[in-house]
Amino acid sequence: AAKRAGPGSLAFYTPEMTVSSANRLQLLQQLRQALQEDEFVLHYQPKIDLATATIIGGEALIRWRRPDGAMISPGDFIPLVETTDLVHPVGQWVLRTALHQMRIWSAASLPPQQVSINIAGPQFASETLPDEIAAMLAETGIAPHLFQIELLESLLLDDPEKARRQLIAIRKLGVTVALDDFGTGYSSLAYLSGFPVDILKIDRSFVNNLAEDAGNLAIIRATIAMAHGLGIRVVAEGVETDAQIALLHRLGCDLVQGYRTGRPMPAGDFARLIAADPVTMLPPALIKLTTQ
Ligand code: C2E
Ligand code: MG
Ligand code: MG
Ligand code: MG
Repeated sequence: AAKRAGPGSLAFYTPEMTVSSANRLQLLQQLRQALQEDEFVLHYQPKIDLATATIIGGEALIRWRRPDGAMISPGDFIPLVETTDLVHPVGQWVLRTALHQMRIWSAASLPPQQVSINIAGPQFASETLPDEIAAMLAETGIAPHLFQIELLESLLLDDPEKARRQLIAIRKLGVTVALDDFGTGYSSLAYLSGFPVDILKIDRSFVNNLAEDAGNLAIIRATIAMAHGLGIRVVAEGVETDAQIALLHRLGCDLVQGYRTGRPMPAGDFARLIAADPVTMLPPALIKLTTQ
């Protein structure tokens, strides 16, 4: 291997790397084709308001349905997409598909849902993003306050002044902004308070062992207190147990999203779910607890 190579040998070029860059090229080719052949799909994961115990909307999450029927999760292709020029067409596809889906639900007179999409770094950095969102809102007639974008906090840090301008332009449309996977970056909430955002999504690594880990409990409690002090609402991600829901409610968390209250699902399943109004996906024992 290259690491053990002696002087004069071709360091850094290992057989494994050759294979993996060939794989990378092949995967990229397949992803371009996937876009052309319309092989991407969005699934929607419910977000539940703990104050009313009802679904208020969902997060759109991309999947790749291969011609052989295999469903590929975003973790296996989005990192590659985000480092290539595919990031723009894929991002535009997500924006268009989510808003057109909302249009379909609205035309079917389903209760209005707030839908969020994930925005990649290069997409957020693009000067044209606010106009693209505005154009798609106009095309579909969706009320801007029902639409939300999710960003990693790291996207704000490269060029904070540019990020702030971009956030202002997007929020001016009436669209809301959520900071995704909050707590996994290195920035403090105090620093982030300089950016206009509407929602913090506490990363699931803090929620995981919330009931057992006093440290994570303290972090979540402090995050909620500071966020509320700044007028920011809080979503807990990755909620998997009733104990977590009960605790998060006690801590004043506004919304939950996780396998316990609904996995990401195809648009048709999500529509059936929200067709009943008002609808809850909270475990029955917790409905009373949260709404009393
Ligand atoms: P994310 O935006 O933080 O999305 C939440 C992820 O956590 C989703 O994984 C979701 O299925 C998963 N999750 C939700 N509840 C639970 C739970 O209770 N337990 C556990 N263990 N996991 C839970 P998914 O769909 O595989 O997406 C992974 C990441 O891929 C997303 O993280 C997001 O960063 C990225 N991604 C997904 N869709 C898009 C997209 O359309 N565009 C871009 N740029 N990135 C996307
Ligand atoms: Mg997200
Ligand atoms: Mg997240
Ligand atoms: Mg994530």
